Amino acid sequence: MENSNQSDPVALELDAEQAARWLDLVPPPRLIDVRELAELHSGIVSGAIHIPLREIPSIVSPGSHPHLSRPISCDENVLIYCAKGIRSYEAMHWLRQQGYQRCASLRGGIEAWNGADLPLAAGPGSDHLNRDDQERYARHLTIPEVGEEGQAKLLSGRVLVIGGGGLGSPAALYLAAAGVGHITIADDDVVELSNLQRQVLYRTDQIGHSKAEAAAKTLSALNPTIEIVAFPERVTGANAPHLIGDHDVVLDGADNFETRFMINDLCVAQQTAVVHGSVYRFEGQLTVFDPARGGPCLRCLHPQSPAEGSCASCAEAGVLGVMPGIIGTIQAAETIKILLGQGDSMRGRLLLIDALKGSFRQIEIPKRPDCLSCGHYRG
Ligand SMILES: [Zn+2]
Repeated sequence: MENSNQSDPVALELDAEQAARWLDLVPPPRLIDVRELAELHSGIVSGAIHIPLREIPSIVSPGSHPHLSRPISCDENVLIYCAKGIRSYEAMHWLRQQGYQRCASLRGGIEAWNGADLPLAAGPGSDHLNRDDQERYARHLTIPEVGEEGQAKLLSGRVLVIGGGGLGSPAALYLAAAGVGHITIADDDVVELSNLQRQVLYRTDQIGHSKAEAAAKTLSALNPTIEIVAFPERVTGANAPHLIGDHDVVLDGADNFETRFMINDLCVAQQTAVVHGSVYRFEGQLTVFDPARGGPCLRCLHPQSPAEGSCASCAEAGVLGVMPGIIGTIQAAETIKILLGQGDSMRGRLLLIDALKGSFRQIEIPKRPDCLSCGHYRG
């Protein structure tokens, strides 16, 4: 994969092959389908956001468009397409006039894309799920809150799993099984024997292997129809903004507070939802931070970042192997709800589970007006 060079000018139009190569950049361009809903049954380019041409002006309005997980900034690469390349050219031209100089239109639209034999994903609200997908997701399709439209949303969803450990393992397995179309799993560790008591993504013969790569192998075997990306590096302040920007939801299974606070601050800034979980011995906690929809963030919950070494890690305190299994699967459920736009999110509520007592309770987390991270944002 090549890195995107933000200094090169962007052509007004790209042909299908050029567009496909552009979409392979890291981070990929934002991709917008400007056709009408009824036209999407023939399929969409994987990862595209549907914003009909007449709604394009809402991209630049302060509230942004509801289909966008975060606003588009003027310096981001944006690829727009329609059926034949006429409406997308108009949208591109208008956006350039508004200062979005890195917009390009797909010349010839979906017709040219098809003509070049490039792949399409199922469109929302369509009966376009292929026969295998119909069967694979059959138990989803009969749920009113999911159905074909919801399954198509999952298939176009992009989730960043930070940490392929106790929480990330069950979460990623269920997200892959559910057909979340793109999952990036970020972890710079290697599999150790002591992980196997709870990190159900790995097998004994994978000891010593990169967790991210071993996880990708397991997840691809479970569901070869989705895209799994292994990110076998440490998530740092340098790489996290791009990583987060490339996904709709972040599932936080990090093993240290430093990373969690950094992710929190970036997700508040980028208005990206974080599904948060943590475990300690027989206990587990879970909540959702969703700055775009208001509600508190991690710094509202913990105004002071715990001093280094003051929190016992799994290695020191121990954890019952099933606890991250319970919390991680609820994290997967919350992530799926966000992608579907269904149900009552755990935003603003902290679920506290004590397996030793057999107690499940929840408390409200107030948003702190003086929060260092989200206090400046209204919500
Ligand atoms: Zn906050």
